[in-house]
Amino acid sequence: MSWRDLYCGELRSDAIGRRVTVAGWVDTRRDHGGLVFVDLRDHTGKLQLVINPERAAEAAAAAHEVRNEFVLQAEGEVVARAADAVNPNLPTGEVEVQVDRLTVLSRSTPLPFQLDEENVDETLRLKYRWLDMRRERMQRNFRLSHTAVAAIRRTMDDLGFVDVWTPAMTRGTPEGARDFLTPVRLQPGKFFALAQSPQLFKQLCMVGGIDRYYQIATCWRDEDLRADRQFEFRQLDLELAFAEREDVLDVLEACVVASFESLGRAAPARPFARLTYDDVMRRFGTDKPDLRFGMEIQEATDVTRSSEFGVFANAPCVRFIVAPKPYSRAEIARLEEIAREWGAKGLAYVVVDESGEVRSPIAKFLSDRELQEFNAPPGSTVLFGAGDEDVVARVLGGLRLHVAREEGLTAGVSDVFHWVVDFPLFEQDEESGRWTFMHHPFTAPTAGWEEWDEGNPAGVQGQHYDLVWNGWELGSGSIRIHDVEMQRRIFRTMGLSEEEAESKFGFLLEALAMGAPPHGGFAMGIERFVALLAGEPDIRQVIAFPKVSSGSDPLTGAPTSMPAEVLRDLGIATLTPAGAGEASP
Ligand code: ASP
Repeated sequence: MSWRDLYCGELRSDAIGRRVTVAGWVDTRRDHGGLVFVDLRDHTGKLQLVINPERAAEAAAAAHEVRNEFVLQAEGEVVARAADAVNPNLPTGEVEVQVDRLTVLSRSTPLPFQLDEENVDETLRLKYRWLDMRRERMQRNFRLSHTAVAAIRRTMDDLGFVDVWTPAMTRGTPEGARDFLTPVRLQPGKFFALAQSPQLFKQLCMVGGIDRYYQIATCWRDEDLRADRQFEFRQLDLELAFAEREDVLDVLEACVVASFESLGRAAPARPFARLTYDDVMRRFGTDKPDLRFGMEIQEATDVTRSSEFGVFANAPCVRFIVAPKPYSRAEIARLEEIAREWGAKGLAYVVVDESGEVRSPIAKFLSDRELQEFNAPPGSTVLFGAGDEDVVARVLGGLRLHVAREEGLTAGVSDVFHWVVDFPLFEQDEESGRWTFMHHPFTAPTAGWEEWDEGNPAGVQGQHYDLVWNGWELGSGSIRIHDVEMQRRIFRTMGLSEEEAESKFGFLLEALAMGAPPHGGFAMGIERFVALLAGEPDIRQVIAFPKVSSGSDPLTGAPTSMPAEVLRDLGIATLTPAGAGEASP
């Protein structure tokens, strides 16, 4: 006996008259005293079973006991539904199965939530993820994810990439996050770090002559969880020997297009636009701009240099955006709060109402030339940022996104992909004043920037590039350093002594000194990519068993404390914070 002849969603009117065995979950049951109707569901859809006590007394008795989410097997005859019972909204809506034999394969306790319930608390959904997964939305997401990843794998295979497995347990790699640590019983007191990415291993694969490496690699980063961040996530991780930037970007574009096509969606046109870091920072105030709408940041520093408005005249940088709405005082007050959150001291503005009249506390200080320069049409508001260039960029970039979201400027526009290229190689830590890498310390400087003042590398350009989709950073990559002396110089600039560089990265330095080919690569966040493909607001909706923002897994209850003996074997003592509960589970 087989469990089923076909899936629930497959029956059509051409099967009328056939005897079938079907199996699935009870989606709903309608008990009319005599007749019992059951909608039986699996991942393909729903099918109506009719259990008639006059036809099958035993099956009817069993059907009265059935509840939602029981697992049933039914055998019977496919019949046409009466004309007034046809359900045009269901692909199987013209037929039903008149049941002769009904077997309860599995029962279900009362459910913590109904599958068709909206707005179920997310922690509850994740605690009972196996139920949540049965819902159409989740089924669609996981299958979509599979389809896209399969298309990526096919593309990588076609392009000659070799899937090489690299270790999860390794030394910390400097990707800019904290490491998750794994103690080692054989060496108490010592720890592996879980790989933040396979960065160094893939570079070593290049030195090892693999030529084209890829992996759908799991990465672990101890960061605060957000809509687009989990402790563990996957990357399409790749590296090419003897590659220029354009070779790398080409591969990613092919993968993006193949994913769209595998889902039957119109793919974005190639090549994706390439914008420089300086350009996007100036025009959009962020290195991952959402280009689905304009509202670009505009320059006013020159025109306000001799302004009678002191704040403008004295600011090193004055820029503005023109929002497509004449804001009220109350709305401006809210925008000002947001501007302050981004680091502004206040928010200067000029409202041009529908009749063209200017409303602004600073209007009296502004010359006609200044007002003209802002070029704000009736029914708009000019919002200013004045101060240090990076603060102005941050504030106006934040306001630009906020206004666009509130005004629905992104509605109906989709799939704007672009590259940001030519990033600075180093950035200065605001607090310590130390110079550190912008991407990671293995990114090569742009040709012509090989020499710099190691004490002040401001302005050195790196061969780092990012892929952005609708304002989400999908991933980063770079052309790497393959010259050992250059690598040492980078470490020195970051403030690492020779000894520190040797002890942390000695293996890399040795490999670079033994015939390293020029190489470059990229890593694209799979979950971010899939969430956007699925139209989901956060990556948890495309991850089977994600963690919640407190950093726990509501399903298994992890993380847990460990018995003292286990910790002792590992050479670990814990400092349990007061009130944190008992030490062992
Ligand atoms: N390893 C880098 C990251 O995870 C990506 C790359 O440079 O290839 O962001």
